Amino acid sequence: MPVTSQYVIPVSPVPHLPVRNSGLRFPVHRIYCVGRNYADHAIEMGHDPNRETPFFFQKNADNLVIGNGSFPYPSGSKEVHHEIELVVAMGDGGTDIARKNALDHVWGYAVGLDMTRRDLQGEMKKAGRPWEVGKAFDHSAPCSDVVPASEIGHPGAGRIQLKVNGEVRQLGNLSQLIWKVPEIIMVLSGLFELKPGDLIMTGTPAGVGAVNRGDLLECFIEGVGEMTTRVV
Ligand code: MN
Repeated sequence: MPVTSQYVIPVSPVPHLPVRNSGLRFPVHRIYCVGRNYADHAIEMGHDPNRETPFFFQKNADNLVIGNGSFPYPSGSKEVHHEIELVVAMGDGGTDIARKNALDHVWGYAVGLDMTRRDLQGEMKKAGRPWEVGKAFDHSAPCSDVVPASEIGHPGAGRIQLKVNGEVRQLGNLSQLIWKVPEIIMVLSGLFELKPGDLIMTGTPAGVGAVNRGDLLECFIEGVGEMTTRVV
């Protein structure tokens, strides 16, 4: 009998995002997220807005919801928040990447949502436990198509905005990032070996809030793109 596969159970599909207007796919390796990277959001969460060393957490690559898909309200939570974020898509990896070369490693950008079970995250924070249940749950990372940096460059400024049912809830500017993209890559690559296909969610501006089933989340980042997600 011919051996068709050495794997003893079915192999999971490669998580990916579409590349805008191309029919091509960007394969996703890991998802890193930066915490408290806009001063006004740090303040609304009760933290010091001054520049402290950036900190990171992760979501799973298969937590992605491909652009304009639905976000199923997750189990186990009564308070789920939207966090709109600029997503960096790494084309090239490395360790200890220098700030001045960091953007050479970026393949493109996308608009993402770091959906958060805020009640569970809060309980974990209080107990000094990991944030996974609050952050790294199924469907917790809706993300738009990736746009290549070769088309749009590396956005350092531009409006970042989220509307819920037509009303603006989050509004900021990429220029307000406490840690800029090259600095994030520098610090992160000192902690982990970055790989092609890694995504980095760069933090959210103020205005996070709870979503309900039926809500329409309209996300927009100037110069990058837009995404619409329905909570179901
Ligand atoms: Mn976030």
